[in-house]
Amino acid sequence: MANEAEFNYLNSQQAPHCSVCSLFRSSFSQQQQRHQEQQPTSSAVLIPDQLFGSNNKSNTSILLRCSSCRVCVHAKCYGVAETTPAMSWLCRRCDRNLDTAKCCLCLQKGGALKPTSDTRWAHIVCALSLPGIFFDQPAIREPIVVNRMVREKVVFVNCVFCAGRSDCSSVFYRGVCLPCAGSSAGKRCGRAFHPTCGLVNGVRFTVGLDGLFSGCCCSVSSRPAAKKKVPQHVNVGQQVFAKHPDGRYAAVSDDCH
Ligand SMILES: [Zn+2]
Ligand SMILES: [Zn+2]
Ligand SMILES: [Zn+2]
Ligand SMILES: [Zn+2]
Ligand SMILES: [Zn+2]
Repeated sequence: MANEAEFNYLNSQQAPHCSVCSLFRSSFSQQQQRHQEQQPTSSAVLIPDQLFGSNNKSNTSILLRCSSCRVCVHAKCYGVAETTPAMSWLCRRCDRNLDTAKCCLCLQKGGALKPTSDTRWAHIVCALSLPGIFFDQPAIREPIVVNRMVREKVVFVNCVFCAGRSDCSSVFYRGVCLPCAGSSAGKRCGRAFHPTCGLVNGVRFTVGLDGLFSGCCCSVSSRPAAKKKVPQHVNVGQQVFAKHPDGRYAAVSDDCH
């Protein structure tokens, strides 16, 4: 929990501060990020509302920080009212006192979690970026419906960023990965990554006309980053993670027991 809270805190120190909007972090300039010393009480929302399946026009929102896990989100991105008191706010998971809950898609803790329709938990960013996952009630961003995932468009292979970083070689199920959109010499990269691992490793996410997310692992690592504590190809918006003791979302190793 301590690791996770530190991760959440560091993550929120840079624009756009919101854990959900961090999907589009790379569209912010380095300049802007350097000068964000104090966290504002509200900021621009980077995720278009249509991606949630809702249609709210306003594009700024207050920032809320969970007083337990310290995750920081826009009220809008998390699907709570703009009038929510920022003092002593708890995210859904901490409100239910479920410190051990993790995302059923990427198997990681930390970040902004929401209940799923099958009584598990998932990251809002994983729900947004993996095809076929949607929010049953878009306005409140939950529950996340995970059982209609478009299986042809996701892969269940080792994540290029976190494979080998834990002792979980015996664990068969490794979560859901997004295939890398990169290719060289006409050959597809063939690797894949958890959305959250892509995020903390500086993958730039883009949304196609079909509304589907893609990202390219090749742009941040030319070889599997398994043993690197800190990626060498640090990207805009990534510096803060390098300061974190293990540089990524915590606790894949929980699966080993
Ligand atoms: Zn946001
Ligand atoms: Zn929390
Ligand atoms: Zn996740
Ligand atoms: Zn991963
Ligand atoms: Zn790749």
